[in-house]
Amino acid sequence: MGCYICSSISTIMIKNLLIVVALSVFIGSASQAQNDSATGTGQGYVFAPLPFAYDALEPNIDKQTMEIHYDRHHRAYYNNFVKAIEQTDINGMPIEDIFQRIESLPESIRNNGGGYYNHTLFWSFMSPKGGGKPKGKLAEAIDNTFGSLEAFKTQFETAGAKRFGSGWVWLSVDAAGKLFISTTANQDNPLMSVVEERGQPILCVDVWEHAYYLKYQNKRAAYLTAFWNVVNWDEVASRYEPAK
Ligand code: MN
Repeated sequence: MGCYICSSISTIMIKNLLIVVALSVFIGSASQAQNDSATGTGQGYVFAPLPFAYDALEPNIDKQTMEIHYDRHHRAYYNNFVKAIEQTDINGMPIEDIFQRIESLPESIRNNGGGYYNHTLFWSFMSPKGGGKPKGKLAEAIDNTFGSLEAFKTQFETAGAKRFGSGWVWLSVDAAGKLFISTTANQDNPLMSVVEERGQPILCVDVWEHAYYLKYQNKRAAYLTAFWNVVNWDEVASRYEPAK
């Protein structure tokens, strides 16, 4: 005769096992669904993973800001861009090409396409291993253009601090191959046909309040100064070479 307690225990274990299996399948399909929506329509617009953990840039950029910024703001720009571009006959066109003709397109594409693209760039310019100084040709170009790295940083921070309202501060390469600092409003960027100073961006910092307000409140300048502790100069340098 089988042990009643033993068989009860094994029944409970099997039930628990089934629950675990069922849960794993559910969680698996839920994350798959999230993944599918994140990669969009297959037209080449990708909501890329954040290249570091939410808390990786602490204390310069706090975990909560990173999470909200990436998972809510950036994701919303991406989703809204995909929705807006699907209504057009240029769905699938490289986004840099879309920016070249942005003056002829709906505002929703300008705002959300810019938001999607600018944030993807911005994440690439930050790293937990960042900070320090640029090297090689980029370092030389910064010295030649701005006088020194410190002078460049000061000009960049001042430009960012002075941008009224929401926007971005940029380091770009112009048509003559020269570096320049500029700012743009809202989600515009230097690739867009509508901005005054056009060029190939090689560095940007988001100066919307959502990028810094939880930690820095109204002190945008302090946020811009802290940014240099996480700046990914290798990424900036890798964009500088082809841009010039
Ligand atoms: Mn932002």
